[in-house]
Amino acid sequence: MGKFKENVIQPILDCWSLLVGLKITGKYFCKPLITVHYPRQVIDDENLQTYGGHVELIGKPKDPATPKCISCMMCVTNCPSRCLTVVKQKAPKPTPEEEAAMKAAEEAGEKVKKPKAPKNPAKFKYDYTLCSLCGTCIDNCPAKSLKFSNNVYWVATSRKEMKIDLLARLKEQANEMPAAAPAPKPEAPAAAEKEA
Ligand code: SF4
Ligand code: SF4
Repeated sequence: MGKFKENVIQPILDCWSLLVGLKITGKYFCKPLITVHYPRQVIDDENLQTYGGHVELIGKPKDPATPKCISCMMCVTNCPSRCLTVVKQKAPKPTPEEEAAMKAAEEAGEKVKKPKAPKNPAKFKYDYTLCSLCGTCIDNCPAKSLKFSNNVYWVATSRKEMKIDLLARLKEQANEMPAAAPAPKPEAPAAAEKEA
């Protein structure tokens, strides 16, 4: 029985396994190519949108160089890989005149409003070498200030380059944005009347 299995059954199973493999190869061989010959060809915009690259910041719609981030630290606390570093901004130091005015108001028993720190962060660093792309930071950001980039052609030649200053990257992206087209001027009333 042992010889029969070794000399007959096993070769049949091996051939079957080979045929299954060849069937899969044949199926994909006849399908159109989904890869591109980079750099002669590049990935189209539609497919780029579904690419999940490194994490990056999202800017405010009216001020794309400033992140929507409110420095709540939720992403830093929840990141399982400890790859995010956020530093909050400090409140601006009052000028000597402002300090004197505040002191005088305090002495007069008035309620003094001290300058508040801006909400957006002073530093936002990200270590791509540690990131597992789990998406926890993106899903839990209350300000919807994080996303996966579609930076598909980005390469780094050292670990150091993979530690990204996300604020600097956001500023660069905002500078590369095409200037918004000027709003169309409203039609002069006289011309509009003439046409009517
Ligand atoms: S990116 Fe979002 S979660 Fe992280 S500190 Fe900013 S607001 Fe908070
Ligand atoms: S994707 Fe995951 S591992 Fe990467 S920074 Fe966000 S929470 Fe951390």
